Amino acid sequence: MASITFYGGVGTVTGSKYLLESNGNRILVDCGLFQGLKELRERNWQDPPFQPTEIDAVIITHAHIDHTGWLPRLVKLGFNGPVFTSKPTADLLKILLPDSGRLQQEEADYRNRHQLTKHAPALPLYDEHDAREALKLLRPVANDGNAIEITDGFKASFLVAGHIIGASLVLVEMPGQPPVTGGSDPIRFLFSGDLGHYDQPIVKDPAPPLACDYLMVESTYGNRLHGDISSDDQMARIINEAAARNAPILVPAFAVGRTQEVLYLIRQLEEEKRIPILPVIVDSPMAAQATQVYGRWHEEHDEEYASIVSKKQHPLRTHSMTTASTREESKRLNDMQGARIIISASGMLTGGRVLHHAMRILPNENATLIFVGYQAAGSVGRRIQDGEREVRIMKNWIPVRCHIAKVEGFSAHADWKAVIRWLEGLPAAPKMVFTTHGEPDAAAAMAQHIRDRFGWNVVVPEYQQNVELT
Ligand SMILES: [Zn+2]
Repeated sequence: MASITFYGGVGTVTGSKYLLESNGNRILVDCGLFQGLKELRERNWQDPPFQPTEIDAVIITHAHIDHTGWLPRLVKLGFNGPVFTSKPTADLLKILLPDSGRLQQEEADYRNRHQLTKHAPALPLYDEHDAREALKLLRPVANDGNAIEITDGFKASFLVAGHIIGASLVLVEMPGQPPVTGGSDPIRFLFSGDLGHYDQPIVKDPAPPLACDYLMVESTYGNRLHGDISSDDQMARIINEAAARNAPILVPAFAVGRTQEVLYLIRQLEEEKRIPILPVIVDSPMAAQATQVYGRWHEEHDEEYASIVSKKQHPLRTHSMTTASTREESKRLNDMQGARIIISASGMLTGGRVLHHAMRILPNENATLIFVGYQAAGSVGRRIQDGEREVRIMKNWIPVRCHIAKVEGFSAHADWKAVIRWLEGLPAAPKMVFTTHGEPDAAAAMAQHIRDRFGWNVVVPEYQQNVELT
């Protein structure tokens, strides 16, 4: 008997984990960390309802921590099989997983120092060493649609999903009825992973879906549309205003994906002479490494990116750009004067070097803070966006007097219309479609949009629900 069980990414956008079973073999698709609400985060600590030692292989759709950040824990609990993922994703994981291990350690240390724990001492979910052990299991494959042998009777094909560099759609083929019956057609299960949108910069559009019996599709924007506000006009206006005041700009941005999109846009505005050339400082060692990975994988770039490269220009390099890698380089930035653009992580001001910059920028009434990404409830970024006049950063109350701007239009996810457009590429109706990776309203709305448009059988799965596949 074959089945799928949903161990994450349902009722939430985080914790993606889907277990496929057939003929006594078990494959886990994605191994993400739960993030956000406390009751979700607590799941990271619970023992999984399956034996990690009995998982034969893991497939990873893309590098984001909500799809990969539980992998070191799985390895710590005894998983020792291969982890298949695209080559760029493997490169990004070498940056992201050890960093996640360090963050887990820091959090445990913090709780011990401030006696915030019932457990003495508080232990990390995993540490940097565990993360490096997980990296040893990576089996990088090409995002080219060729079927790879995963384990006994299981095959998988990886194709470009857009979203971020290396992101994959994955088609898993697995045994159907037990072979005693004389063999049967394999079950074809297609995972959309996180799906990019069609005019996203840098990366290619998502590849069309492959014929399948079952389909899982993400629903992050299942109830929203991006609209057509152009991010370049907004960004150009904000930068010009700041330049006229000769004042600094701070852009908090996630190190992988968003930082590169912001650099790409600034370079383009400079090239079109819509903004003056200002010093641009990328102050995040992780962002700097991720930018290198972005530049390296030409087969994932869209045509516009390729045409800039063919003119011997670097699409992710502005005309006056500095990267601060060491702490000393970062501190030296404090002495700079005049108009400049500082891009630093984390994107929601929840930690990282961006906090040091925020402490200087926020009280400066000439300076500008630009939000380019979603600010989750409870984050410092959200408080500022909601208009609080004072925020607490590293135990200091910092007054907010700078200009606050928001540039819309950056998103790495397809909205519901783009998902429908993608689904239109399917050659035939699947037996069943699952909408996952969405808040409950979004997943339900996406399911309804699919029923309305195609009349297909769509299920919004629940946490730990098991569905038999035939
Ligand atoms: Zn993602």
